[in-house]
Amino acid sequence: MSDMQITASTDSPYTCRSARESGFGARIRNLLPVALTLLITITIFICDWLTELGVAIGVAYVLVIWMANTIQHRHAVWIAAIVCSVLVFVGFLKSPAGGELWKVITNRTLSLTAIWLTTVFILQLRTANRRLIKLNRDLTESNDALAQSNIDLQQFAYIASHDLQTPLRHISSFVQLLQENYKDKLSSEATTWIEFTVDGVEQMQTLIRDLLTFARVESRSRPFDAVDLNDVFDSVVDVFAEENATITRDTLPVVAGDSSQLVHLLQNLVGNGIKYRSGETAQVHVSAERGDDAWLISVRDNGIGIDPKHNERIFEIFRRLHTSQEYPGTGIGLAVCRRILARHGGRIWVESSLGDGATFYFTLPLQEV
Ligand code: ADP
Repeated sequence: MSDMQITASTDSPYTCRSARESGFGARIRNLLPVALTLLITITIFICDWLTELGVAIGVAYVLVIWMANTIQHRHAVWIAAIVCSVLVFVGFLKSPAGGELWKVITNRTLSLTAIWLTTVFILQLRTANRRLIKLNRDLTESNDALAQSNIDLQQFAYIASHDLQTPLRHISSFVQLLQENYKDKLSSEATTWIEFTVDGVEQMQTLIRDLLTFARVESRSRPFDAVDLNDVFDSVVDVFAEENATITRDTLPVVAGDSSQLVHLLQNLVGNGIKYRSGETAQVHVSAERGDDAWLISVRDNGIGIDPKHNERIFEIFRRLHTSQEYPGTGIGLAVCRRILARHGGRIWVESSLGDGATFYFTLPLQEV
């Protein structure tokens, strides 16, 4: 079917009639304030002509200006202000003969002032309103654009890291095959190079795996459930059972959340407490405190600590304070923690000083679970 046919089929007689009806209805709705304004103006003028209204005439015409403000026409207020001013002047022509002239002039001047002050005020109000509407529209548009670009970025990170895994796996397995099958035939130099290649590939695999985790915080998220943080703690302790570390806790609360993401969060923080140890035995303690509207959970360690000037930067993706030779890692862990907490309506920060251990704090909103 061609474009022409599609256009023709949507333009049915029914559509035309209903559009015409709605246009007619809108016109009636627009005419109503015009008719009302005219009626009020004529009434006021007649009253002014027949009686001596004094300053009251100004107040009455101010009402007309406000009525004109409801008319859907760009110049309605201007036109109303000019018409009212002319009528005030015409009314003046019928002023009483005798010594009351100064009173009439004062009254008419006050009326004109009231009319034009109201007009200026309404026009300013309209301009401010128009600006506000435009600002709101711009804000909505940039919000939409930002949301879309966020989705695109997430998809890009996910697809890029996911699709990179397959060729990397091939490189890794073929290099390992080379190492195993040609061990005796290769020079020691070639063996070292192969080892470097395997190391590099492994690092890249870790990086891609972490990047995928980062992208999946939003794309592979599960609905919130009641999650007992004591159970989360137990599963984290199991992961680090082999490490030379003492991991303890106070009683932890039940919160609303995505259990696998909360395990990931605590595992990252406890894991860092163990990785960045300063002495032989790492000590990590997890505790909780109930606030007015959120739980405050802290993960304290006795490790190398962090210079306070890096307190913000360490939560950025790929930000590391050490080389891979000093401590292995990709610099994605804390960025994932921050993303998980943003999804849970919480936030994360650190308090620390160099050589004095670090305490990571995060909040989780108090919610019905
Ligand atoms: P990674 O550990 O892979 O480098 P993270 O995002 O988990 O990445 O941490 C970022 C940086 O923050 C780390 O490189 C480290 O320098 C610092 N850091 C994180 N946790 C701790 C900690 N408990 N003690 C000291 N430094 C830490």
